[in-house]
Amino acid sequence: MDCQLVGKNVIVTGGARGIGRGITLALAAAGANVIACYRTEGEHVEALAQQLKETPGTHRLIRADVTDVADVERLVDEARSIQGTLHGLVHNAGVTSQVPFGELTPQEWYRVLDTSLTAAYLIVNKALPMMTAGTSVVAIGSRVATIGMPQGAHCTAAKAGLVGLMRSLAKELSSQGIRVNVVAPGMIETEEAARAASEGRREFVERYTKRVALGRSGRPEEVAYSVAFLLSDQSSYITGETLHVDGGV
Ligand code: NDP
Repeated sequence: MDCQLVGKNVIVTGGARGIGRGITLALAAAGANVIACYRTEGEHVEALAQQLKETPGTHRLIRADVTDVADVERLVDEARSIQGTLHGLVHNAGVTSQVPFGELTPQEWYRVLDTSLTAAYLIVNKALPMMTAGTSVVAIGSRVATIGMPQGAHCTAAKAGLVGLMRSLAKELSSQGIRVNVVAPGMIETEEAARAASEGRREFVERYTKRVALGRSGRPEEVAYSVAFLLSDQSSYITGETLHVDGGV
């Protein structure tokens, strides 16, 4: 049975590129009305807007920096005026970098924490009045949050914090009928990452995939299908969970 999201109103942060674009397209294809926010203008935004125009439903792409309180408030205000009620919220926006811990600057620490973790607090906090019994919140975490990664302490700290935030919200918001889960991807090869890959990155991917049971990187749509499941009523008894989409690490 396919995941049905027909008529469900959903917000996706960072939904115009990479895994986020995969999520936006999969949810729209499953029948949801999708509002996706992005930060950087570009041809990729116009191309996605065109694709969404050809997909049934009411879809919008809205520029909003999720680390900026005023932008998040404006995003939610616009969503309220278009959608009224919110059935699904996906916090996908995230930034990453590899930095030896001794060289990690406060600026880089805050950039990563602000986008992955603080923005999750902001968007759920502001969108909460739009949620209703049956609303499902999904945050995109990361497999490395629980296994660690050299030169990635800031990224793993942010994503591990996200798991704690979402587990507590699952308990607190259950009284309102709201479910809250995390999807934690392993190595996912996005079009952008593949295009920009240096020789070093290609070697890293090759080494990493040797440790993956399925022997390959994942695809954005493989993350998106798990998100669609957790947003759908088919997952109505799942909350506070972290679903690893990592090919078996
Ligand atoms: P990309 O860098 O390709 O995309 C990140 C997205 O987040 C972009 O759409 C970007 O928008 C958006 N974004 C970043 N900062 C902001 C901001 N301040 N406000 C609004 N949007 C923002 O990353 P991926 O697609 O690879 O990753 C998506 C999520 O999956 C992230 O949370 C990442 O941590 C997680 N993840 C990815 C893995 C992978 O292997 N790819 C593995 C594990 C987790 P814009 O382009 O406009 O800046």
